[in-house]
Amino acid sequence: MAEKTVVLYPSLGVGHLNPMVQVAKAFLRRGVAVTIAVVDPPGKDPVLEAAVTRLASASPSIAVHLLPIQPASTNEQYSNTALRMLDELRLASPVLREFLTSLPAVDAIVLDMFCIDVLDVAAELAVPAYMFYASAAADLAIYLQVPDVCRAAPFSFKDMGDTTLPFSGVPPVRALDMPDTMADRESDLCKRRVHQLARMPEARGILVNSFEWLESRAVKALRDGLCVSGGRSTPHIYCIGPLVDGGVSGESGERHDCLEWLDRQPKQSVVFLCFGSGGVFSAAQLKEMAGGLENSGHRFLWAVRSPREEQSKSGEPELEALLPDGFLQRTGDRGLVLKNWAPQAEVLRHEAVGAFVTHCGWNSALEAVMSGVPMICWPLYAEQRLNKIHLVEEMKIGVAMEGYEESSLKAEEVQAKVRLVMESEEGQKLRERAAMAKEMAADAVKEGGSSDVAFYAFLKHVEDEQSRGAPNPAI
Ligand code: UDP
Repeated sequence: MAEKTVVLYPSLGVGHLNPMVQVAKAFLRRGVAVTIAVVDPPGKDPVLEAAVTRLASASPSIAVHLLPIQPASTNEQYSNTALRMLDELRLASPVLREFLTSLPAVDAIVLDMFCIDVLDVAAELAVPAYMFYASAAADLAIYLQVPDVCRAAPFSFKDMGDTTLPFSGVPPVRALDMPDTMADRESDLCKRRVHQLARMPEARGILVNSFEWLESRAVKALRDGLCVSGGRSTPHIYCIGPLVDGGVSGESGERHDCLEWLDRQPKQSVVFLCFGSGGVFSAAQLKEMAGGLENSGHRFLWAVRSPREEQSKSGEPELEALLPDGFLQRTGDRGLVLKNWAPQAEVLRHEAVGAFVTHCGWNSALEAVMSGVPMICWPLYAEQRLNKIHLVEEMKIGVAMEGYEESSLKAEEVQAKVRLVMESEEGQKLRERAAMAKEMAADAVKEGGSSDVAFYAFLKHVEDEQSRGAPNPAI
C-alpha cells in the first residue's frame, strides 16, 4: 500500500508524540507514507518544538504538520492539566479537520487515546479512524470496562479503598489503584474521561503497544468481547508492539559517561533507578531511598531529580544537600548518581544491569521487557498502579515496593526489595521470566512474528475499508 497516506494524531506534549513516532516508523518500514499532525499549543511548548525539530532531522521521511490553536480560546483557568489538555484538543479538532480536507487523500487516521472527539471529524469526512493505545492491553481491557463499572459502583473509586472492582481479563484491581483521573466520578475530568472511554469502541480498530505472549489473558478477554461497556462490540485489537525508541545516544555517536561506568561493573550487578519524565520524590523520600540502597550493599545507578517544591530554584538537583550526609563519598566505589536524566533504554540494555526500580510507565516497562531486566515496581502517577498489577501478578517479571500507596516508603523496604531481586531464589525466577519475555518480545516484532502479522492485518483492514468505498475527504 505504498500509495496510501495515513495521518497520525497524538495528543498534546512530547510524551504522546514519542510513542506515535514509533508507530510512524512501523508504517514506514512497511512502505506506507505517514503524516503526524501535531497540535501546536498557544504559548508554545519548547520541549515539543525541540522534539519536532529533532524528528524532522532524524527521520525526514516522517512528515510533520503543526496545527496551531488560538491563544484566545484557552484563557480559562484550569486547576487540572488533564482537563486543560482535553479542552485544547477539542479546540484543535476544527484545525485538524481543515488540514485533513487539504490533503489529496487520507486512507486512515490513527488517534491516541485522548483524541476521541476526532471520531466525529473522521465520521464526517468518511475517513476510517483507528486508535493507538500506547499502554498495556490489560489497561485497555480495564479502561473499556470503566464506563459500566464506574456507573455500577456504589461510590466513586476514591471512596472505595481496597475494594476489588469487577473487571474481566485482569487480576483483581483495587479501587485505590485506579488512575486519579477516574477517582471522583462527580468531577468534570472523570465525566469527560468516562465519556471518551465509552466512545472508544466506535474506532474501526485499536492498535496496542504490546504483544500477544506478554498479555495473552487480557488480549483474549478483549477479543472475546468481555471488556466493553454498554453492550457494544469490541473493535479489532491489533497488538503491534513493543514499539520503543531505540535510544541510541548522541547524534555524533558519543556514549554517556554512565555507560562507560557500567562497562566497569560485573554482569547483572547494578540496580538501576529511574522514574520516567515526571517522577519526583520528596526530600525525605530521597533520603530513605539512599539509605535503602546503601544498606543493600549492591551497586546502583540512580537518576535523581529535585523534589517538586525545589524544582523552580535551579534546573539541577543539589545532590550533596538532597542525599544523606556522606552518602556520595561512602558509596562512590559502587554507586553512580545522575542529575535528572539517564539514557534509560541504553542503560537497560547494558549487561551490567541486574534490576530496574521503575515508576511503571509503560514505555519504561517495555524497555525493561526488551532488555530482559526484572523490575521493582514503585508506581507514582497516571495508570502506573495498574501497570504494577500486570507486571507483578500477571507477567511475573516484577515485584512491588510494599507501601507505594503511602506518602513515604522506608529505607528497609527499599533494601529488602533490592536484596530480594538481586540475591534470592525468587529474584532468580523473576530474572528467568524476564529473560524469556525478552526473547518473546524479539520474536513478536521480527518478520512473521505476532506483532508483525498483526500490523499487516491492520493494513489489510484499512485496505478493505477503502475498497468498501469510504471516500477521501477532499474528493
Ligand atoms: N526516560 C529516559 N531517561 C530518564 C527518564 C525517562 O530515557 O531519565 C525515557 C524512558 O526511557 C521512556 C520515557 O522516557 O522511554 C518515559 O516513558 P514512560 O512511559 O515510562 O513514562 P512517563 O514519562 O510517560 O511517565
